Amino acid sequence: MKAPNAEQKKLLELQQTDSSLDRLMHREKNLPESALLQEAAAERDGIVSRLATEVGAVEDAEADLGRLESDAATVSARMQRDDKRLQQTSSVKDVTALESELESLRGRTAVLEEQQLDVMQTVEDARGVADATRAEGVEIDARIADIRAQRQTALDDIAEQRGTLAGTRHVLTEKLDAELLEAYEKQRAKTGIGAALFRAGTCGGCTMSLTGQDLATIRAAALDDVVRCPECNCIVVRTEESGLW
Ligand SMILES: [Zn+2]
Repeated sequence: MKAPNAEQKKLLELQQTDSSLDRLMHREKNLPESALLQEAAAERDGIVSRLATEVGAVEDAEADLGRLESDAATVSARMQRDDKRLQQTSSVKDVTALESELESLRGRTAVLEEQQLDVMQTVEDARGVADATRAEGVEIDARIADIRAQRQTALDDIAEQRGTLAGTRHVLTEKLDAELLEAYEKQRAKTGIGAALFRAGTCGGCTMSLTGQDLATIRAAALDDVVRCPECNCIVVRTEESGLW
């Protein structure tokens, strides 16, 4: 295959552009912000699930407290009723029975009050734990928003550079020899490097130093011959830097 040396030289610029595009794609796929975002999202999931358990504990304690308050109200109503009956009755037997029941109800009230105090403390503690977790949630949400903004900035930067490089690529390929371009594209699809500078006896694509017959072949090739690296098969482009002439 033959192509003017000037055309072949354009491949070096094209390769440089394509390598820059590859680096951009690699950068986009491996943004540190993406990994940070994944970590933060996992942390957030943990917080959300922990909060659900903690809110459940608050609700359980509140339900316990509600039951105790309802029990206390029932006992209190009964005591009021007994008091009233005590004032109305003249039967000694009834008085004795009512006083005995009131005594027992007073004891029950004391127990219920103590239990209420305990459960109120439990409710307060559980609310405190849930509130702390909610604060953690607010914090992680802010962190996630922050990382997202940073990632977007990086993505915008990548998009801008990609746009510029795509423009450069378009200008380069528009006028390039079609057969040469096809050979370049085919090779680049295989190894990522379609063309490389030949310098100091070395292929710039695979950095292999060529010796003996391989080097002699390249030296002997006409300037418009399209020469391949015997190692990586990329098009080796000879320029004034190649040290061949
Ligand atoms: Zn090579």
